[in-house]
Amino acid sequence: MDFRLTEEQQFFKDNVAKLVDKMIKPRAEEIDEKDEITTDIIQEMGRLGYLGIRYPESVGGMGADMMTYALFIEEIARGSLSVGANIAMQTLMGTDFIYRFGSDEIKERCFFPALRGEKLGTIAFTEPNAGSDLANIHTVARKEGDHYIVNGQKTWITNATVADFATVVASTDRSKGLKGLGFFLIERSTPGYNVGKKIHKLGTRGSENTELTFEDCKIPAENLLGEEGKGVVYLGQILAEIRIMTGALALGLAKTAFDDGLQYSKERTAFGRPIAKFQLIAAKLTEMYMNYEAAKLMVYHAAWLKDNDLPHSKEAASAKMFAVEMACKVVDEVTRIYGAYGFAMEYPAQRYFRDARFLLYGGGTHEILKTVIARELTGRL
Ligand SMILES: Cc1cc2nc3c(=O)[nH]c(=O)nc-3n(C[C@H](O)[C@H](O)[C@H](O)COP(=O)(O)OP(=O)(O)OC[C@H]3O[C@@H](n4cnc5c(N)ncnc54)[C@H](O)[C@@H]3O)c2cc1C
Repeated sequence: MDFRLTEEQQFFKDNVAKLVDKMIKPRAEEIDEKDEITTDIIQEMGRLGYLGIRYPESVGGMGADMMTYALFIEEIARGSLSVGANIAMQTLMGTDFIYRFGSDEIKERCFFPALRGEKLGTIAFTEPNAGSDLANIHTVARKEGDHYIVNGQKTWITNATVADFATVVASTDRSKGLKGLGFFLIERSTPGYNVGKKIHKLGTRGSENTELTFEDCKIPAENLLGEEGKGVVYLGQILAEIRIMTGALALGLAKTAFDDGLQYSKERTAFGRPIAKFQLIAAKLTEMYMNYEAAKLMVYHAAWLKDNDLPHSKEAASAKMFAVEMACKVVDEVTRIYGAYGFAMEYPAQRYFRDARFLLYGGGTHEILKTVIARELTGRL
């Protein structure tokens, strides 16, 4: 058993870290304050080839394995969780289905420009009355000749304020519940595609979330990605990746918060000594370190299992949940280490604290994940 990164992985991680320290980390505060997506960063990542990281070289990607992808996402999140969320959307959920099921024309129009950072993609499944409960999705796609007519409303859609296209989950037969759901590519230019109200959020404010409505959106039949009724199956095929990726986002956020907290505890003095010298502060540091290391092993292990074609479903779900709970605890402890300055907007601790909450939802809420893991552990009783 070898726990070290390969030379290639370490080299890659170091290069991304340098880029993040130069291009993203110094802007993290400004990104949060402006409350707007930084398209220039996405464009630059596209120019450098990173947006194709998990797609094969044959289509212009980097052909990276899950482990390398996790390292990449972790580094970006270390710089800014908002940018991490945007890059994750662009490299995974926002483009995966058009890569897998899009026609050559769709790929030419949407996928390749997205890899270059020239167009932004997103995914839209959540509705005002259906989040975890996908079977309750009301958006419908009605076949009419060689077209579909899509009607419905989505919410919480990442970067829909500026996205050029969305992979939309809609039902072709509501009586079939989950088995009636399919994926449809709908481009922003389609008449009836309306970008609604922007949601003002607690954290990851440089990643925008918006309502989307479709009013008689007429799209060609080829915009059905894959087959009718297979949406949940297709989503299931990348769910573990989404969970490992979210775990990696949590690692990046926890690392940056921990590093800041450690530094502050060595510099801040009280009662004539650095606060790090007090046992109760030192205990916080060691517990944060211990849990961060444990989470890292779980996330990397889940990625390794996936890369080696071994079963990894409950491992990915567990890694996501453990890493996110760890990150939520770390950001809480770091704000305490900062004392009153953990409550001040000019220090980063409050941003980490706010941003961490974002991690609770992507890839499944922890109530849902616990159910999923328990089901796998207990089997059919
Ligand atoms: C920052 C952010 C970005 C997002 N980006 C996107 C996006 O780009 N595209 C998109 O489609 N969606 C997006 N979402 C939505 C996200 O996927 C949903 O929030 C998530 O699926 C949960 O749905 P919900 O919020 O409607 O909660 P609900 O499903 O209504 O759940 C509410 C509570 O009930 C619990 N619960 C629900 N069902 C069960 C059950 N069976 N057992 C036990 N407990 C249960 C949940 O765990 C939760 O605690 C985003 C959300 C956020 C916060």
